[in-house]
Order: sequence, then structure tokens, then C-alpha cells
Amino acid sequence: MAEAGFDACGAAAAAALETERAHLNSWLSAGYHAGMAYMARNIEKRSNPALLVENAQSVVVALLNYKPPQRQPATAPQIACYAYGVDYHHFIRDKLTAVIAAVKTVAPEISIRGFVDAAPVLERAWAVRAGLGWIGKNNLLISPALGSFTFIATLALDAALEYNTRQEKNRCGKCTRCIDACPGKALQPYLLNAHRCISYHNKRKGETGVPLENYCFGCDYCQLACPWNEKAPPHRMDNWTIPETVNFTAGDWYNLDEPVFNTIFAKSALQGAGFAKLKANLNACSGKPL
Ligand code: SF4
Ligand code: SF4
Repeated sequence: MAEAGFDACGAAAAAALETERAHLNSWLSAGYHAGMAYMARNIEKRSNPALLVENAQSVVVALLNYKPPQRQPATAPQIACYAYGVDYHHFIRDKLTAVIAAVKTVAPEISIRGFVDAAPVLERAWAVRAGLGWIGKNNLLISPALGSFTFIATLALDAALEYNTRQEKNRCGKCTRCIDACPGKALQPYLLNAHRCISYHNKRKGETGVPLENYCFGCDYCQLACPWNEKAPPHRMDNWTIPETVNFTAGDWYNLDEPVFNTIFAKSALQGAGFAKLKANLNACSGKPL
């Protein structure tokens, strides 16, 4: 995993995630997932590795730090840090493919599958079981070493491994910084209401209604407020950042046209929203420096 570039790794015995699945179901029943219908699909499958890999015995979880060494100018319309580089789905998929190929070289009989962002809520639960951190009041995985600016990748396989036997205790304590920092009042402790979340509204096509502050893609207020991210180290991914994402001024963003967008940001997560949505978001940005 380290050779593939991951920053932390742990393993847990495969099992059906009963508690987490019940929690996810009640969150979905309350409608807090807003229009993200995909979150309600295949929950059985996503909460039980044995339904993804026959006779799965282990789940391996790897974290990839994306905390940027350099942030955008405070006066520019803001992009969430996870989108500063190449779309992480593709970037991590390549890493998982390399890991799977390495496993197959030494143990060709093993069945193994890799996942990234297939079920974010459950990926965080696996990360906790693998001893990599705890779920913070902002609903994100907090690694004591890396904070919350991490991508999470999982692998399910039909081989037994040495498992983590100690889970990180929750160290949020009395802190409420993430909740206080959320402009949309989307957070209660350990509960996200996507209807109120900027990151939902500025990425989903056709969604409006929540002030975007100065974020034109995603939102990081709840992560930037977290003390565990202050001391986290910057990422080590040499080939990940798309420089214009970090270097564009406010003028560059407002003058961006579609052909240039499609050239510079061809591999960016910004493509997920598309040019028209990004433009609409830019027009809705407050212009207030972060
Ligand atoms: S991403 Fe932004 S709007 Fe959503 S919960 Fe975090 S701070 Fe609130
Ligand atoms: S800001 Fe505070 S309460 Fe929120 S996740 Fe971080 S430590 Fe926990």
C-alpha cells in the first residue's frame, strides 16, 4: 500500500455492518440524503463484503492524504480541496489496480476487489474498524495523524489477515468547531442534512436554494475548522494537483470559457458538475474572501 502511495492502511475482519446499516437506513428514511438517490441503492450489498467478494474474510482500508500544501488565493471563488487535482475516483482506481496486481502476483488464488467512494458512509465505518480514526461530529473520518482531508479506498478479499485490535477513541470531546463553522447549518453532532449542505447544492445539477458563500465547487468550512486538520501534514502526491485550480485568480475563474475549461480541467472532479453548473455557481458566489 505504501508503495502505491497510500499514507495509512489497516485491516478488519469482514462482517456485515449491521449497526452502521441501521444508522444509514434511518438517515435515509429521514430524507437527509436530499436528492442523492444512489446512496439508497444496494445498501445490503454495500454493507456486507461477503456479497461483493464470495467468502470475503478481510477488508483492507487505505487512506490517501490530500491536504494541500498550498491553498487558493482567499479572494478567488473556492474549490473544495479534494477537487484541487485529478478526479480521485480515477487516481485511486489506478492505485488499487496496482495493489491488486501485486497481490495476484504472489497469491493468484485470492479473490480481491477494490472500491473507492462506492459507499462513503460505510467506507468510514470500515476505516474505524481498521483502527485508522474515528467519525467526527462533522461526519468525516478523523485520522489522528492525517486529519480528515483523506480519500478512503477499500479492498475486500477472501483471505485472512492480521487485523487491527484497537480502535481509535473519539477525540472530538466538547469541540463544536465544525458545527459552528457550517454556514448552511447542515450539521448536528454526527448528523449531516444534505438539504442544507453547500457541497451538495453546488455539485448536483439543477440544485439551488442554499447560499453558496464563496464556494463554487464543494465546501470545506467544516474541515478547515477542525483542529485535527491544523496539525496534519500536507499531501505527498507529486502528480495530482491541477496547478490552475490553485493558481487561478478571481478574474481567471470569472473569465473561464467552456473550451478552456474542458482543456485545463479535463481530468478534474469539476467535470462532475460540468461547465454550466460551475458558471452558475460562480455567479452565485458571494465574492467575500475566505
Ligand atoms: S460541507 Fe460546508 S455546508 Fe456542508 S456540512 Fe460542511 S461546512 Fe456545512
Ligand atoms: S471540529 Fe471538533 S467536533 Fe468537529 S470533527 Fe473536528 S474535533 Fe470533532
